[in-house]
Amino acid sequence: MPVSKNYLAIEKIIASAHEPMALLDSKLTIVYANAAFHNKFNLSDFTNNERSFLEIKHDAFDHPTLTTLFLETLAVKGSLQNYELHYAKNSESSKFVLNIETIELPEETFLLLALNDRNNESEQLQSFLQSVLNSTNYGIASYEALYSNDGTIDDFKITYTNREVPRNFGLEPKQVIGKTCREVYPGIFENGIFEKMAACMQTGIPDRYEISVAHNQNVMWLNATIEKVGNSVAVTSKNITQEKTAALEIEAINTLLSNKNKELEQQLLAEFSESFFSYENGQHFFNSLLLEIASKTKMDYVLLGEVFKDESGDQSIKSLSVIIHGQIADNFNYPIKGGPCDDVIRGESATHPNHSQQLFPDSRPLAELGIEGYIAHPLVSASGNVIGLIAVMHQSEIHDITYIESLLKIAAKRSEMEFERLQNERLLEMKNKELERQNIELASFAYISSHDLQEPLRKIQLFASRILFREKSNFSDSSLGYFQSITNAASRMQNLIESLLNYSSMDASEIHFVPTDLNLAIDEIKNNMIELLEKKNARIEVGQMPTLAVIPMQFQQLLTNLISNGIKYSREDVDPVIKINAEIVSEEEFAGKQFWKINIADNGIGFPQEYEEKIFELFKRLHGKTDYEGTGIGLAICKKIAQKHDGFIRAIGNPGVGALFSIFVPVN
Ligand code: ADP
Repeated sequence: MPVSKNYLAIEKIIASAHEPMALLDSKLTIVYANAAFHNKFNLSDFTNNERSFLEIKHDAFDHPTLTTLFLETLAVKGSLQNYELHYAKNSESSKFVLNIETIELPEETFLLLALNDRNNESEQLQSFLQSVLNSTNYGIASYEALYSNDGTIDDFKITYTNREVPRNFGLEPKQVIGKTCREVYPGIFENGIFEKMAACMQTGIPDRYEISVAHNQNVMWLNATIEKVGNSVAVTSKNITQEKTAALEIEAINTLLSNKNKELEQQLLAEFSESFFSYENGQHFFNSLLLEIASKTKMDYVLLGEVFKDESGDQSIKSLSVIIHGQIADNFNYPIKGGPCDDVIRGESATHPNHSQQLFPDSRPLAELGIEGYIAHPLVSASGNVIGLIAVMHQSEIHDITYIESLLKIAAKRSEMEFERLQNERLLEMKNKELERQNIELASFAYISSHDLQEPLRKIQLFASRILFREKSNFSDSSLGYFQSITNAASRMQNLIESLLNYSSMDASEIHFVPTDLNLAIDEIKNNMIELLEKKNARIEVGQMPTLAVIPMQFQQLLTNLISNGIKYSREDVDPVIKINAEIVSEEEFAGKQFWKINIADNGIGFPQEYEEKIFELFKRLHGKTDYEGTGIGLAICKKIAQKHDGFIRAIGNPGVGALFSIFVPVN
């Protein structure tokens, strides 16, 4: 076919177009097609050159219809715009838009076909987006705000949703799009989601929340974000029920485990507290306590220390017990300054499970011992002062923090008590020493003074008897009476001095316990007193008495004093009767220890019970010397003798009825 210039120009234009374009002759043969057309319809597959348009196979082309269309257009030399050719592609509907133009050239009349599938592209994109939106397990939906008359948001219209959102409620997108939330999702007005959407709509601030939604007796957990887009909010949500249920289950298991752990910990702590009972006191106590902590916690160091001021006046710690790797180690002192116990001596506990050296770079002990973890608890006195601390230290990180803290807390409480007990013990020891010193001083004073008094007294007695012997006949009756008083007074004084000497020499006298049959001892006393007993018309009734290991002379004196007091403090018109017996008793105040109780009961004047303690004091007398002669030393001696026998003495008085004195001496 001869070609004109115009034809060539047309071919060039067609060749340069991006869209598929072809030129057909009046027989609908493709005389020219550009690359886009070739590609689109695989023209290379054609075997002969006579390429009729009708040979192109494509779902879009309905050939009979197109043939008619083309031929009619040619006949009228017309054109056609935007003719849609629909076809299905990947089960989605698709289309070409066809433009037809008749071109008249001198040689022939042609039909120019221009196919446009750009429409189609955007549709493909949309369907692609749609498939993305539907295949994601995120719920994506857009809600348009609906306003009430007063301008407040009172509902949202569902303008778009992917399948996921309504699927959660057993619905399809087409059942919800165009409806309001109040119609479809009324629950959001109760669980706070509506308020969140409205707030986001008003403020434009995106929100993110996690919520549980009840649906068909099941609980569904959603994690969602809300974002404002124009007059709508876009809500992206994810059903996290599975993850949440799993997390909740894990949490429940963890709680169970931690409860079990706590139970175990409580049990361990109870056992720990119980073990205190078997500990001894003082140093033994601290060592046992710390060994127990070391074995329970497996800490490299366990230390219990006392706060003290060193020579330069700085507060330091003096260890009372140290356990290193499970063994009792030597005690040592260390400065508090710059170390973790700075806080502890202010009364706070300190817990640094790791990095202790970095936290306290100035602490010498931490560096020297290579400490990584440190936990300590203060020891506080009853008056609220920090007196020491109990600490564990470890060369690597400490893990059982709460358990160790509880352990230290309990140990600290018990140690505080031990500190106090030790302090009281020290105080008591000091007081006892002081008392002992005072007693010795007093005894030696009494001894010396009474010793020295005897000499001038003897002189008085000697010269008085000489004067009486020589001058008796020259004395008037009254002078004689006065003189008698002098000698009486002198002999009373002698009595007093002797008793005092006796009392004060008691401490120095030799202690020698000898098994002594008390029946025989009392018989001897009775013999010694025979004159007194007769004079007073007194009777002594003795039960079966034991044989006891006693200091014979002292015990004899003890019994003599009590018996003679019984006779001395008798009632004027009643003959004295002294009843003596012995029994074994166990004393509660001495932890049930057994004592021999020797009772000496009389039927005399008795005494008011409130004076029980007083009558055993030196020189204490209840009854005047005019009525009853005495020195007030006898019972003080008795008390001392009982004590020398590791025993004690008690008295029960009943005024006008009698008195009961009981000597207690240990059975063994
Ligand atoms: P005294 O030399 O005065 O007897 P004691 O030390 O023996 O001194 O007794 C102290 C005081 O205890 C007596 O003065 C008396 O008041 C009272 N007392 C001692 N024994 C008896 C008793 N058996 N009955 C009543 N009072 C007693």
